[in-house]
Amino acid sequence: MAAPQTLTRSPSVATKSYWNPAIETMPAATLAVMQQRLLKRQAAYLWRRSEFYRAAWLEAGIQSVDDIQLEDLHGFPLTTKAALRESLIACPPLGYHQAAPMAGVIRVHASSGTTGQPTYMGITRGDHDIWTESVSRVFWAAGFRPDDVYAHCLPLGMFVGGLPLQCAVENIGSTFFSPWPGGTDRLVTMMEQLSATVLCSTPSYVRRLTEYVQQELSTDPRSLGVRVMALGAEPGTEVYRPELEATWGCTVVETAGNSDVLPLFYADCELREGMHMLVPDYLYVELVDPVTKAPVAWEEGAEGGLVYTALEREASPVFRLESNDHVVVAGTGTCQCGRTTPRLRIVGRYDDMMIVGGLNVFPSAIAEVLGQLPPEMTTGAFRIVRQDDAPAQRALVLRVAEPTPDLGGEDRARLETRIADVVKESLGLRPVVELVPAHAVAAAEFKTKYVEDAQ
Ligand SMILES: [Zn+2]
Repeated sequence: MAAPQTLTRSPSVATKSYWNPAIETMPAATLAVMQQRLLKRQAAYLWRRSEFYRAAWLEAGIQSVDDIQLEDLHGFPLTTKAALRESLIACPPLGYHQAAPMAGVIRVHASSGTTGQPTYMGITRGDHDIWTESVSRVFWAAGFRPDDVYAHCLPLGMFVGGLPLQCAVENIGSTFFSPWPGGTDRLVTMMEQLSATVLCSTPSYVRRLTEYVQQELSTDPRSLGVRVMALGAEPGTEVYRPELEATWGCTVVETAGNSDVLPLFYADCELREGMHMLVPDYLYVELVDPVTKAPVAWEEGAEGGLVYTALEREASPVFRLESNDHVVVAGTGTCQCGRTTPRLRIVGRYDDMMIVGGLNVFPSAIAEVLGQLPPEMTTGAFRIVRQDDAPAQRALVLRVAEPTPDLGGEDRARLETRIADVVKESLGLRPVVELVPAHAVAAAEFKTKYVEDAQ
């Protein structure tokens, strides 16, 4: 009988810095030539294969895409998320934009739409390989290596943060496991038994996990031996990074993707001065003014919204898809890490933005302010209470988690005033603060919604 396999790993032999050095460090001029070639091929493919895009282009007066140029791309019509949803409803299951026959589709991903109806996205073998390669670049930049054991701290259903991440972990050669559909207790047991060294999650779920390990198990999170956490899918990584790194004794890396485009394609490099876009060969990204949609130059400090064009997408293509991410360009040119793509910070989402008293208010900014308050003031959890449907709100009403359940009426009132003072000082706007029991505003299982409607 063979001896049982030990879970002890040999030291990493993988010392290279990039998963795909040729692409990640490609000089800008070479990159532009490659993107131009890919754009031309993708536009020709969509013209032939996607009724949705051909119709949109014809309606905009574009009679041919034979001579499409990167610098003229802004002249092509934008695609909204709503238009893709309408296309899916009008022509189920994959919509008019589908550009590959169903026989070539190897997997369908589903996300729950706002109406409760799932929305579908298909991937071909080629799309699958590109997704796997993209997420591999992200996880490699985060520091995952073949000798790591990866805990999947996200659902493993058919949403894009599930299987595609598993494929990438396996592609890198790390060991994948998931407690799904088990809960936090099962996750921690598996992390201990399998000696997990890296994980991927949302910042709010990792904070819950921390609480569980410290309070329910009376265990020091450091004893679990996690080396790297890749966090994303919601704001808060930058805010909670110092606390999480101190508590777990690990490195926290911010990552991001877009559920319509690619599961993950942004990651911090070791310098942590904004996330690099790691897939310039699969995706062309435009920075635009959020209102006029006019192009904005990629210069340090510039901000705006993003428009995505997939350069190689077969089944469910995206061409000039508007994203609601509100970003700031953190740097351009060759980074000290050697990567050549611009770095950016996602500072919020335009569809989360509220206008209060003429000021733009982003939930992520409030999360940042409250997250930095000491535990004797609040746990940091909160909700913004929307007063009515109008984008412009009369007042900023915040429900904030109380630090302890036994606050007296007078202490409560004093604390509410102090929190309102701090927010006013940071955001220039005085909120109405209401302290509520922590469970009333607790983080959702995986992704927290910061805005709720007044009852
Ligand atoms: Zn870098």
